[in-house]
Amino acid sequence: MRPRDPGMGVPTANLPPSMAIFPIRVFGDPVLRTPAEPVEEFSSAYERLIEDMLETMYEAPGVGLAAPQIGISKQIFVADVGEGPFVMFNPEILETRDTWSFDEGCLSVPGYFWEIERPGFAKARGFDIDGNEIEVSGDELMGRVLQHEIDHLAGMLLLERLPRRVRKQALRDLREDAMRPTDR
Ligand code: ZN
Repeated sequence: MRPRDPGMGVPTANLPPSMAIFPIRVFGDPVLRTPAEPVEEFSSAYERLIEDMLETMYEAPGVGLAAPQIGISKQIFVADVGEGPFVMFNPEILETRDTWSFDEGCLSVPGYFWEIERPGFAKARGFDIDGNEIEVSGDELMGRVLQHEIDHLAGMLLLERLPRRVRKQALRDLREDAMRPTDR
């Protein structure tokens, strides 16, 4: 997902210059609908991938990025809601509560935002790059990012969280967009 206002506290500094920026897969790419594989072995081999995912996310700019969005069908996401970057491997939602409405967007559905109501608070459990179990939780943007990114790892886009009628219209809009001659 990305913030509606790119100035939303997203830090872009402090990144070594050697990192790579991946192209972000967009709506229609089958990898986005495929449930990602759990990571079985935690190794430093993932360090470079994580750095590149963060670089790709900051450049977009976004507040979260899941591995399937760069074509890697593994249960990994990175995020930074303004409190510093973190990564979760094999995350699962442990608990949600309350509700919160937010204009939610997704780097894989560029240019669109929909007001989506979801639980306001979410707590997730997963692993860090060393295989240590970690828990991350938060309200509002943090809670939303956790739910949004973990949806990605299940092969689910935010479109599936829209009320049925809104979703139909959204899909029509996306189809029209896709058919329009583009100079992008
Ligand atoms: Zn997304």
